[in-house]
Amino acid sequence: MFTTKKRTFNQHDNEKESFYKFSAPNFSNQSKLNENISTDVCIIGGGLTGISSALNLSNQGLSISILEANKVGSGASGRNGGQLGIGMRKDQFYLEKKFGIEKAKFFWKIGLDAVSHVVNLIEKYKIDCALRQGVIHVGNTKKDYKYFQDEIDHMQKNYNYNNYEYFDHNSIRDEVNSHRYFSGMLLKDSYHLNPLKLTFGLAEQCLANGINIYENSPADKIVDNQKEVIIHSGKNIIKAKKVIIGCNGYLDNLLGSKRNYFMPINNYIIATESLGKDLASKLIKRNCGVIDSRFMIDYYRFSEDYRLLFGGPETITSHFVKDAKSFVSKRMYKVFPELKKFKIEFSWGGTLAISINRLPIFGTIMNQKLYYAHAYSGHGLAMSIMGGKMVAEKILNKSNNFDMFEQINHFKIPGGNMFRRPLYSSAIIYYRLMDYLNRL
Ligand SMILES: Cc1cc2nc3c(=O)[nH]c(=O)nc-3n(C[C@H](O)[C@H](O)[C@H](O)COP(=O)(O)OP(=O)(O)OC[C@H]3O[C@@H](n4cnc5c(N)ncnc54)[C@H](O)[C@@H]3O)c2cc1C
Repeated sequence: MFTTKKRTFNQHDNEKESFYKFSAPNFSNQSKLNENISTDVCIIGGGLTGISSALNLSNQGLSISILEANKVGSGASGRNGGQLGIGMRKDQFYLEKKFGIEKAKFFWKIGLDAVSHVVNLIEKYKIDCALRQGVIHVGNTKKDYKYFQDEIDHMQKNYNYNNYEYFDHNSIRDEVNSHRYFSGMLLKDSYHLNPLKLTFGLAEQCLANGINIYENSPADKIVDNQKEVIIHSGKNIIKAKKVIIGCNGYLDNLLGSKRNYFMPINNYIIATESLGKDLASKLIKRNCGVIDSRFMIDYYRFSEDYRLLFGGPETITSHFVKDAKSFVSKRMYKVFPELKKFKIEFSWGGTLAISINRLPIFGTIMNQKLYYAHAYSGHGLAMSIMGGKMVAEKILNKSNNFDMFEQINHFKIPGGNMFRRPLYSSAIIYYRLMDYLNRL
């Protein structure tokens, strides 16, 4: 039996509006769980993992209910940087060393398939979420050019993959007009988009497919009674044959000590006023997303109405900052000092889950009645949608991709409940120092 008391999903209750909320039409669903129900599959978490697993299980003769503690997309899925990146969070060099070439190739293919799957869903369901092609990785240090060139050569030779474009010191400035960068690499198969519009679009399709979505209905306790799983939500109970948990950084104690395999961290984004198309194209010529090469990354892109959405810094404490404007803008001005004269109209943050090896964590307990997928480690926009698909395919016995991820050996974050946070804070300080030293 697992229970939860502390509630991370409540941290957003009093915050100001994000740009995404401002930009997206309201999600049409209005229902809250107010009775006991029985369902074939109960999905806990109305983010992209939960919604994607529901969508992939739908039209199979199963009754499906999603329980969302807050509102659909109110977690990281509706708050993120919108960078729809290929691959895993770790590069292929790391994956090959750790798992051997064959498994590394499997992970690479899943990462590529994840992005094309999302693009296909957007086309299939005609979701208007401002999809734009191309993400540029920019090098903050003089040494980065070697890494980019090695990666391009390696992927060409060993994966027959060519969809990169390299930028040297002169040409990167044409692409991203900042003095900060020494080189860069365009990933032509990556995209950027408005993630809340995407989440709502997929959730609307769930409703159209007959899936029940209950908002403001947190799961409080999960009990295995052997025959089925009982989920308590306030005064109501849900009896389910299968349960899927997609709560990622907002998981709290719902899965007991499983949470010790990742660190929930808070990350923040700001949005300027609209800079207009001309200035936007002077700053980022091809309207690509941009991600830098540091440990504590900056990531940014233009919105559909040409605001610069700039994200990156992580705070040292578990405390959630309600107004991140001042500390995020400092980083943005280092990249584009000319933006000081423009207003910052929105700032918001979200919580994500990071595993030690930066690979997602998939698992099943309660004799394969309960499945979970989380810890996409900041690379979850495509992978949470793929994660939901893999969970659904596992339940439907359609593929063994889930098993390949489940077999990854993950390590507990050391320090137990008491020392995990101080350890994490020390790591942040260490990485900030490394970023500083690498620039010297
Ligand atoms: C600021 C920020 C920027 C990011 N930028 C990027 C990016 O640019 N590219 C990228 O690939 N990834 C990015 N990520 C990561 C990405 O957003 C996540 O990996 C992904 O959205 C995870 O989706 P999810 O559905 O698993 O979790 P979430 O979207 O977090 O959804 C979990 C849901 O579970 C609900 N929940 C929690 N507890 C309960 C409960 N007890 N009962 C019912 N419901 C519950 C929560 O309310 C929440 O809605 C970013 C994350 C953040 C926070």
